[in-house]
Amino acid sequence: MGSATTSYRPKASSVIDVGKDFYDRLAENTGSRDLVERFVLPIRSGRAWEVPAGHLCRVLTPEGPQCGDFNVWNRHNPRERLWASRTRQLQGAHVTRYDRLWSTLPYLRPLLTITNDSLEWYGVDEDGARVHDLLGSRCDPYVNRILTGEDFDFHCHSNLVRAVLPYGLTEFDVHDVLNIFTVTGLDDEDRYYMKPSPASSGDFFEFFAEQDLLCALSTCPAGDLSVPFWGPEARDPVEVCRPLAVEVYRPSPELTGGWSTPPRASYQGLHGITLPVWS
Ligand code: ZN
Repeated sequence: MGSATTSYRPKASSVIDVGKDFYDRLAENTGSRDLVERFVLPIRSGRAWEVPAGHLCRVLTPEGPQCGDFNVWNRHNPRERLWASRTRQLQGAHVTRYDRLWSTLPYLRPLLTITNDSLEWYGVDEDGARVHDLLGSRCDPYVNRILTGEDFDFHCHSNLVRAVLPYGLTEFDVHDVLNIFTVTGLDDEDRYYMKPSPASSGDFFEFFAEQDLLCALSTCPAGDLSVPFWGPEARDPVEVCRPLAVEVYRPSPELTGGWSTPPRASYQGLHGITLPVWS
């Protein structure tokens, strides 16, 4: 890496440091958790759901490879939501076990911590690509219109918009996603590319909710990304679209003893402003 070094490093022990033993216990003791919710997202759909603080959530590929576009908010305050770019700096442009998804300013704290990832083996491939992508964002009907001149209402952005409406949120609340099960990288010319998902039937991505969360997921209309959606060879990839499943678990209390929701970053938010004084 030459003279470059990772920039966003803590001075000493901080909230950035992860107590791996705690998360390993949660991941390994699968017999000490109760399933509280399970549902399947059909192809080209979206759904939102709640994960209470201290619970675990799994996103699964029940029928084979499929990319899932994921959004997450503080359940009680939608202004606190995933900040993809800061998460790229604090964790990495692709995330796996022990990585956290961080929230926007002025909160800047973990929304969730990844506890298990059945695709961890993928590592870095021969093209330098990795899985579970924070580099790109969701497909949307506006860019689709620019690229194809046509309208399509089942892009991930639209699926997420429909998903959050029952929770009182709108299109303006949908934000840059974590692309679960999606393999991406930057080529030699620094351009973004995607590759087919390596997920198999039964693969999963699991996280621990550090706060009360509202989550939303879209089954990407491009399916497993093995067929180009855009460009000269494009065709409708509906035959490579598959469902995703979501499971929410309540771990037994002894596994979460001593844990509490992380506080927001303690900066007071005055930004050097001094308030006017009557004289
Ligand atoms: Zn998509």
